[in-house]
Amino acid sequence: MTERRTVLVVFGTRPEAIKMLPVIAALEARARFRVVVCATGQHRDLVSPVLALFGRPADRDLGLMTEDQALPALTARVLSAVSAVISETRPDLVLVQGDTATALAAALAAFQARVPLGHVEAGLRSFDLARPWPEEGNRIAIDCLADLLFAPTEGAAQNLQREYGRRGRIVVTGNTGIDALLTVARRLDTDPALRETVGHSLPALDPARRLILVTAHRRESFGHGLAGICQALVTLAARGDVEIVWPVHPNPTVCSTVATGLAGSTAVRLTQPVGYAEMVALMRRASLILTDSGGVQEEAPALGRPALVLRDVTERPEALASGVVRLVGTAPARILAEAVRLLDDAEAYAEAARPVFPYGDGRAADRIAAEIERWLDA
Ligand code: UDP
Repeated sequence: MTERRTVLVVFGTRPEAIKMLPVIAALEARARFRVVVCATGQHRDLVSPVLALFGRPADRDLGLMTEDQALPALTARVLSAVSAVISETRPDLVLVQGDTATALAAALAAFQARVPLGHVEAGLRSFDLARPWPEEGNRIAIDCLADLLFAPTEGAAQNLQREYGRRGRIVVTGNTGIDALLTVARRLDTDPALRETVGHSLPALDPARRLILVTAHRRESFGHGLAGICQALVTLAARGDVEIVWPVHPNPTVCSTVATGLAGSTAVRLTQPVGYAEMVALMRRASLILTDSGGVQEEAPALGRPALVLRDVTERPEALASGVVRLVGTAPARILAEAVRLLDDAEAYAEAARPVFPYGDGRAADRIAAEIERWLDA
């Protein structure tokens, strides 16, 4: 019997949990692995419901979230706490996902402990360190330290080849977020109990109006950008034939800017963040999605929902090429023009409302688990 290998999986935020849970499941389906799941608690309130939905609690919950979570202090706390978990669990590989402070600090902890590092969703680049800040810098630093680089697309792999052609093993796997999305969409179709729970927790929607689903929380949009988005939404809502729902990210700056930008307007329905299954149901129900979220940019095309990306740059260019996603920035006039075009021009809408899968086929996690097994055995 070959020796079991320990993989320490570290995450801290909702998108990391959503994108790591399929990888954890794929690793645990192979008897070779002992998986230790470590949640740093960077966004504990958003992560716990995702873990419950997938039925895989964390083995370690570091509970590092504090009220005013400044990045340097958070990064230092994650580095120190994850280093202690590494000393205790002695993993053969540390696995991080994406570009958060948790991912960066855990990558550094692995590097300092001389433990091999795998990076899920490697190679994404906007080529602008300021947008998204600090994520673009975090990704570059993590990729630089990683031994195993799981690129979601050929484009991401090419970015890595250009930067680190001679070191690290680069494998194109697809994005594990599409695995999670398709799993939950399937469960919504086949599990009446889940459907009922989701139905109860969603806001009641008007069947006579088309749903526009909004999410926006990037630091690059704080202030002017978010204000522009709010202005566009107020004008859009005045048409009367659309219903706008915006689950607001709990970041205090986002909450206060959105509250100010929509003050006095009841036309846009602001809600608390919704659970992931609720989010999948809302995306499927939406006629149009306006977002600056990385994950939602990947999910909308797979669900055949047209999306307007409320940013000036993106590290996810693949869906732009297919025309189902457009990069529209945050100026109200442009957002309005693009939204109205899709709402009023049936031909343009039909062209944008078709499922395409530029980010993955739903089997990325299994490819990652297989590659880890090969690499650790080599
Ligand atoms: N999401 C969710 N509930 C919400 C908003 C988003 O479950 O109220 C999901 C969304 O479907 C996607 C992920 O959270 O899978 C995206 O997270 P976020 O936008 O916070 O981060 P990003 O992807 O931009 O890093």
